[in-house]
Amino acid sequence: MSEETGKVYHPGEIVPASGIYECDCGEEHDYSTDVKGHRFPPMQHDCRGSGWTLKTATHRDD
Ligand SMILES: [Zn+2]
Repeated sequence: MSEETGKVYHPGEIVPASGIYECDCGEEHDYSTDVKGHRFPPMQHDCRGSGWTLKTATHRDD
């Protein structure tokens, strides 16, 4: 399943899948969560990006 990759999520949106997210400013600010259903945090203060994209999905279905 790769539907989530490449999509930009904005701060305050619901996290659709657990994993490592990367901002879209190109400076590799990461946000990782292992709990889907949380909301994305604001961009870091020195980040000029506007959203988060899924970099690495984690699967914890056990
Ligand atoms: Zn950034």
